[in-house]
Amino acid sequence: GSGKISNYSSDIKIFPMFVRALPDGSGKISNYSSDIKMFPMFVRALPDGSSKISNYSADIKLFPTFVLALPDGSEKGQFLALDLGGTNFRVLRVRIEDREVDIESKTFLIPQRIMLGTGTQLFDHIANCIGKFITEQNLQGEKLPLGFTFSFPCKQEGLAKARLSKWTKGFRCEGVVGEDICFLLHEALKRLGITGVEVVAVVNDAVGTLMSVANNDRRCEIGLILGTGCNACYMETLDNVGLWEEDCDFPQQVIINTEWGAFGDNGCLDFIRTEYDRELDTYSINPGKQIMEKMISGMYLGEIVRLTLERLYNEGLLFNGMDPECELFVRGKFYTKYVSEIESDHDEFFRNTKQVLDELGIENYTTDDCKIVKYVCTLISARAAFLSSAGLATLINRLNKDHMTIAVDGSLYRFHPRFHNLMCLKIQELVKPGLKFKLELSHDGSGKGAALVAAVSTRLLESKSK
Ligand code: BGC
Ligand code: MG
Repeated sequence: GSGKISNYSSDIKIFPMFVRALPDGSGKISNYSSDIKMFPMFVRALPDGSSKISNYSADIKLFPTFVLALPDGSEKGQFLALDLGGTNFRVLRVRIEDREVDIESKTFLIPQRIMLGTGTQLFDHIANCIGKFITEQNLQGEKLPLGFTFSFPCKQEGLAKARLSKWTKGFRCEGVVGEDICFLLHEALKRLGITGVEVVAVVNDAVGTLMSVANNDRRCEIGLILGTGCNACYMETLDNVGLWEEDCDFPQQVIINTEWGAFGDNGCLDFIRTEYDRELDTYSINPGKQIMEKMISGMYLGEIVRLTLERLYNEGLLFNGMDPECELFVRGKFYTKYVSEIESDHDEFFRNTKQVLDELGIENYTTDDCKIVKYVCTLISARAAFLSSAGLATLINRLNKDHMTIAVDGSLYRFHPRFHNLMCLKIQELVKPGLKFKLELSHDGSGKGAALVAAVSTRLLESKSK
């Protein structure tokens, strides 16, 4: 009852979800955004989990996002957006009017030394990119509300106040965990003398993805990311989330960021993890963390395939007489895009597979080798698709609506030839009979979504002050 999620422990399969009020949060209410009249919320037992509360685990933390409403079409204005945490870092200018969203964006590189450097270096780099973008777009001197898609787990204390819980994927910048990333960005903007930019919303990419599809589809209440990382979020009714002020006139919903990539961090997935999963984890920059993500997402799938092929080679079952200097033996050299390419081969010529093997410097492979490589890829990607389906089916069953749209984004889902179909089949098997769903690709979810969140919150505030 302390409100600390970390007190729970679990053996619930797939993932424990529950949302409860933060009873001991009362002393901290004044720290929360006063614009959003709502008590701080953490997690509370859902009806389907209530009898097992004491068994639940701390590894899945459900993060309320302070995003209380979906777009209603009346949003309007010009916004900046940032998208950090996927393959690319982007700065965007977004104009919204009558549900039309017009976007200009620019991609910047984040060098690895910055991903693994200090927080100050990271935020200075980001502010620098914003500065360049503003100049290029001739936006100097304009007032620019900014929506920040920050694709890492954060404890949100307000729409524009989010403390990083931990880094995931390829990032590990010093001095950021526990800090409010909006504050860090504002400080960096100040250091560079950039004025007029104000962060009005921080959103997770899953949340942005949900928002961007919900902008045109009222049945969309779930967002899913299958990219460098993996995560999902969904609309929860405030009744299940806990206390808020009686006179709250916002819609009675909030988006919950499940951060399900951390499922399994307590060992509950060990029964299906393989030696390859364990080796990958050992050599990752965050051992023991993001266990389910490491079985699913684009940052890791290729490496799991590589480790499997390496073992087959060592057993003498593949690539007879290969050069030991070959890249197949180098960590991280088998990219997940190879998995998508290999599985796109549909005939006995194995054109893509051969190209990948050539790129890796593997010589003298046979057609049987190609078959085996492709087979290994199909097994590992199907496992990833099924695990994501299990998570999604749980959310679909929980929301329990006749027709549901799931907004999906991410390079893995976009480029893998079978992921979509595999998921549809598996989810169908797992949802309650009669529930219909569709997986909808989100176009530019992270960028557009953050701007929409900024716009929705502006709308809510304006309508409140009227
Ligand atoms: C992060 C999530 C994010 C996901 C997809 C995970 O590593 O923890 O916050 O949504 O990656 O980008
Ligand atoms: Mg993205």
